[in-house]
Amino acid sequence: MSRLHYAIRLDAASHHLAEIELRFAVGGQGVRGSIDSATVELTMPAWCPGSYLIRDYARFVRDLEVRGDDGTRRTVTKRDKSTWTVDASHTRELRVRYAVYGHDLTVRTNHIDGDHAFLHGPATFVYPTLLRAAPVEVTVAAPSGWTVTTAMAWQPNDRLTAASIDELYDHPIHVGPVRVHEVAARAPVRLAIWGARAPGGVFDEARLATDLAAIVDDHIARCGAAPFPNYTFLLMLAHDAYGGLEHRNSSVNLYHPHFASSRKHYEGLLELLSHELFHAWNGKRIAPRPLLDFDYTREAYTPCLWLMEGLTSHYDRFALRTSNRITAKSFLEKVLDDWARLKATPGRARQSLEASSFDAWIKLYKPDESNLNTTVSYYLKGGLVMFALDLQIRRRTEGARSLDDVLRLLWQRHGAVGEPHPDQLQPIFEEATGLALGEVFDRQIRGTEDPELAEELRHVGLELRASADPAQIADGASAVWLGATLGGTKVTGVLDDSPAYAAGLAPGDEIIARLVRVPVELGAAPPTRYEIAGVADAGAAAARYQAWMGEPHPGAQVLATITTTARWV
Ligand SMILES: [Zn+2]
Repeated sequence: MSRLHYAIRLDAASHHLAEIELRFAVGGQGVRGSIDSATVELTMPAWCPGSYLIRDYARFVRDLEVRGDDGTRRTVTKRDKSTWTVDASHTRELRVRYAVYGHDLTVRTNHIDGDHAFLHGPATFVYPTLLRAAPVEVTVAAPSGWTVTTAMAWQPNDRLTAASIDELYDHPIHVGPVRVHEVAARAPVRLAIWGARAPGGVFDEARLATDLAAIVDDHIARCGAAPFPNYTFLLMLAHDAYGGLEHRNSSVNLYHPHFASSRKHYEGLLELLSHELFHAWNGKRIAPRPLLDFDYTREAYTPCLWLMEGLTSHYDRFALRTSNRITAKSFLEKVLDDWARLKATPGRARQSLEASSFDAWIKLYKPDESNLNTTVSYYLKGGLVMFALDLQIRRRTEGARSLDDVLRLLWQRHGAVGEPHPDQLQPIFEEATGLALGEVFDRQIRGTEDPELAEELRHVGLELRASADPAQIADGASAVWLGATLGGTKVTGVLDDSPAYAAGLAPGDEIIARLVRVPVELGAAPPTRYEIAGVADAGAAAARYQAWMGEPHPGAQVLATITTTARWV
């Protein structure tokens, strides 16, 4: 099969442009799989795995021209928004030249400037439609002082190679000055950091590499084996930036430069990196068919993103606890914060986890002010359902099994052997645990009920308390609220069935004096303050707590407190 040769130049990086040249052979010559018709179709993805939104990456392409082996320009016709048709007659090779514009610093778009170039494959490489499975070679002309960071295979003479376009797209390329830390884990792992770190702080990059090693080892031990030959964490530090995108052998992570300034910020970064790494098992390898075998031109629908992101959201922080990077108290605070956010999401009564997964393309990735009332995040609820299910499995099997058993069976039967998992996951959860789990799946995954957090916490000697924030109690007796969020004087969100809703307030209204008077009767507020506390004399529950958290039951004390009043008026 023809080989695809890409050459990247960054001479115009300060104009946010990367110049790409693609060469590949055409014409019969008896080579199986090569393109031998009179025309060749070139294309670019409309979306990328891990981010479920049609992005139409072809919109960043400019100045595309194609020449034959004699140097003459070929006719290029645009067939649809992402596809070009090229005259390929009477030539043995086509040379495609174009530039891509990249001025958006996210984990799934290109960012090219005078400081670096972050190149996300699907936004960078045009390919011949028929050669998606062809082997690929990439060379990068890096400006002086810039180095190439990628998990792609290196060949002599600085050539990068990938077995196919899919593999190329799964290996982002960073070109620029980075600080590289070897992560001393059970597998070859490195951390490459771009961007200045804010001075000071109690943590540093060496500590980060040490903590990452413990997290990598914890994930490997839990799943049974490392799924990758080597792994690269790319961490880009920038103000007002946050995000992560998983790949099979690497991840791209965006975080603010103040990560070392407080324990809260530092743990947030550890959680992000732990999350993206865990996807190397769950999400990139344990995955449903639509996300392993897909069409780049259209949406890949699956009802299972709750497993991909919910299981990962649970284990990203649970692994921080089991690897002893955070305290049990800090772990419970993270869970409680999610619980408070879930309880403040009325849309959870309208949308199941399966429906939230399926509609990610038009809901989670296209949020508007009404989403709060109609949708629930499969990250948020999925993580809490997995947390409560883990406790339930431990309780019902008297500690013999846990969610880890489900993860390992998913890994052995699907992830490790490249076999997509089925849409219906209840049977594999039941097989791994020996438990009937119809209620959890019917009510919390296919249905819209909340996970039974309070009940499961009670069985490990913890009490989940909900109350009103004292600051919200206007008359000294009962908490009242409007049920709206404000941005300055503007209404940014209105909860269905709230006093604000009853009074006819809507997002976009501005609360100012006298133009329109709207009488509003404040109503009784739902709980806005949540606590997790240990109970005195926990008895058998104390032993369950110890087996779960790896330390003695704390006795009667408040472990975590979250107040959500600031989000609502
Ligand atoms: Zn994720």
